[in-house]
Amino acid sequence: MSGLRITNFLNFSTKQKKKITLFFSFLNQRKYPFFFFLIGFFFVIYALVVNQVKSYSKLKEKNFNSFLKSDEFTNIKEFIFDNIKSPYKEYNYTVENNDTLEKILKKYNIDNADINNLISEIVKKKLTNISPGAPIQIVTKEEKGTNKIISLFYPIDAINSVEAKKNKDTFDVSKIILKLKKKEIVLSNTIKNNLYNSAIKAGVEPNIIVEFANIFGFEVDFQRDIRADDTFEIYYEQYVDDENIVRNTGKIIYASMFVNNKELSLYNFKHDNKQGYYDVDGKSVIKTLMKTPINGARLSSSFGMRKHPILGYNKLHQGTDFAAPKGTPIMASGSGVILRAQKYKGYGNYVSIKHNSTYVTAYGHMSKYGRGIKKGVRVNQGRIIGYVGSTGMSTGPHLHYEVLKNGKRINSQRMKLPSGKILSNEARNKFEVERIKIDVKLARLRENK
Ligand SMILES: [Zn+2]
Repeated sequence: MSGLRITNFLNFSTKQKKKITLFFSFLNQRKYPFFFFLIGFFFVIYALVVNQVKSYSKLKEKNFNSFLKSDEFTNIKEFIFDNIKSPYKEYNYTVENNDTLEKILKKYNIDNADINNLISEIVKKKLTNISPGAPIQIVTKEEKGTNKIISLFYPIDAINSVEAKKNKDTFDVSKIILKLKKKEIVLSNTIKNNLYNSAIKAGVEPNIIVEFANIFGFEVDFQRDIRADDTFEIYYEQYVDDENIVRNTGKIIYASMFVNNKELSLYNFKHDNKQGYYDVDGKSVIKTLMKTPINGARLSSSFGMRKHPILGYNKLHQGTDFAAPKGTPIMASGSGVILRAQKYKGYGNYVSIKHNSTYVTAYGHMSKYGRGIKKGVRVNQGRIIGYVGSTGMSTGPHLHYEVLKNGKRINSQRMKLPSGKILSNEARNKFEVERIKIDVKLARLRENK
């Protein structure tokens, strides 16, 4: 029994062959005791496997169930004893841009009829949506040179997954929903360098931070107002699974910042069927225009005289520049109608929005436009109108942002905007009740921390 012959017989890589050859030559030095040991060893493994297989069939675990009941199960012993030539393979694939399930399956030499059967079942159930980065698990079985699909598993969003299993010649496709529980949480921290890092350290999910920044975007200039040791507090909803793992986040119920030596607390309140954020006096934070129509950007050049970075001479900079990585989304700073969405002079890719008879805003140097953004389209405040780039006369990726008041460019960072509406009468009374409820819950959650 030469090790070499065995390794030739099996389909090993050279590296594996080397290892196995070494192993067997080691055994050959003291043949017989090891022979008996080997036989004994395999017998124990065999007993364990049979035992394991039996207990599996008793267990009838949800995931294994249909697999065990199928014909495939009878082959499993063979599979374990002869696992080197196993016809079963499990693949873990990560979805890339422009992937479709069909495209992915075709990468694994899978039988076309199988692919078509499976895809048509999935299409019927409208479960085809996969997103880049999602993990896909494929189990195949080799039969006469091609691979048959045994099972397929993939998530379609944070809480839903799809499971497909072979059932004779067709597939059983089902959606698996994670049972989620709503949980309320309060997190706070001191702001050391910037809000984002401090919030991440406190355990706040990134999408909640973005929303938090949006809520305060009208009140706080995250660029200039934040001083070391300012603080924030967020009270919001999380959705957790059975193992208490956060699968999704809900709304922000309350958000507070201590900044510029004053505290600003905002409460979520539904008025006229619209959720909004109001301060303790029932005043809405929503203003007509945002100061900063972009998240996570650094103000790199303000309105005023400056030496132009390309032209080289002093020139009035009639807008505000925000440096941000290429591709960072740019929002409509207020609701309005798109006046222009095309290349414009040194601005490169350019969008302008008319908000009312007084105000127009403009955005330059975009790498590309937001979906559906073209002349005449009505947009809401916060809609993504484009992405940061460096088109036109620009030295690097940034947003050039302009506010025009009655046709004249003004400093967007100093503009005084009409403040938000104040709740009155019945709405105000309702808000007071809601606010007190939130304060009580907040106090309790803070204690439990
Ligand atoms: Zn500029």
